Amino acid sequence: MYLSELSALRGVSGNEAAVRTYISEQIRGLVDEMWVDPMGNLFARKGTHLSGPHVMLAAHMDEVGLLVTHIEDDGLLRFDTVGGIDHRVLPSVWVQVGDEAVPGVIGAKAIHLKKPEERGKPVARDDLFIDIGARSKAEAEKLVQPGDYATFWTDYEELGDRRAKGKAFDDRVGCHVLMELLKDEVQTPLTAVFTVQEEIGLRGAQVAAYTVQPDVALVLEGTTCADIPLSIPHGESTKLGHGPAITVADRSTVVHPRMVELLIEAGERAGVPYQLKRTTFGGTDAGTIHRAGAGVRTGIVSVPCRYIHTPAAMLSLDDVENTVRLVRAFLDSIPAGGSL
Ligand SMILES: [Zn+2]
Repeated sequence: MYLSELSALRGVSGNEAAVRTYISEQIRGLVDEMWVDPMGNLFARKGTHLSGPHVMLAAHMDEVGLLVTHIEDDGLLRFDTVGGIDHRVLPSVWVQVGDEAVPGVIGAKAIHLKKPEERGKPVARDDLFIDIGARSKAEAEKLVQPGDYATFWTDYEELGDRRAKGKAFDDRVGCHVLMELLKDEVQTPLTAVFTVQEEIGLRGAQVAAYTVQPDVALVLEGTTCADIPLSIPHGESTKLGHGPAITVADRSTVVHPRMVELLIEAGERAGVPYQLKRTTFGGTDAGTIHRAGAGVRTGIVSVPCRYIHTPAAMLSLDDVENTVRLVRAFLDSIPAGGSL
């Protein structure tokens, strides 16, 4: 399965080469043409000779992570976060640093050393560092440099009843869904784009949409899933195992009502469970795609993922399969030679 391999690949925003190489190798035989633009977006096209609305499907290759900013005299690494990471989830997390994947652990003061007033509080952002086991700055410099990226180091594992945990499901699960869809025959021209730098401002997609100039676009995502006990009922975004989530609106996009309608109709017709995303937080590549050129009708379909933007997220493999089925039904509903 693509997902397990995609999850393990390392690609913090701006540094997506390993993910891009893997995807292009896997889909080479499934598409008519493929190219990479100066930003690093990977394009794959099929059905170019066909008439009908030109569809763009997009999933982002990048993941949130860390960037080494400074090496202390004692060999500990200071870092910045890349993308939306709550620093309170970081203490004691295992990471891999730089191209050589140097192992490290995120350290902080142990509980024994904390003053009573510090104990009930989350560790401050500036009190965290990456420890790669170096004894000195000189020793650390042999292994890493400021400017190196670090990624969470979490094994992909299937557990429970058709569930999986791993890192970077946002948005490797979207990449997985898109790769699965490329196995299908197409009825209208299709351009798949595996975008870069979504997590730091939807940057790759902005350029990609300008290049493709599609008639219609669909963004495939991993989205928040807040069905855990602490959540207030009206804060529940999606429910795990209840099918792909269709977005009506989020911080970056008000989805065209016709797109929401078409996706719901596709779900009904194919007998696929689906849900509407019930919060408006966050944004996706749709935020820049729908505003590209003269405007693009853009929908968003997501696989619910608990604990996204942390070292380990959890998803339902049924949701993943149903997302493929929903989007497939949506693509089948686009009339060859007609308009939406
Ligand atoms: Zn995402």
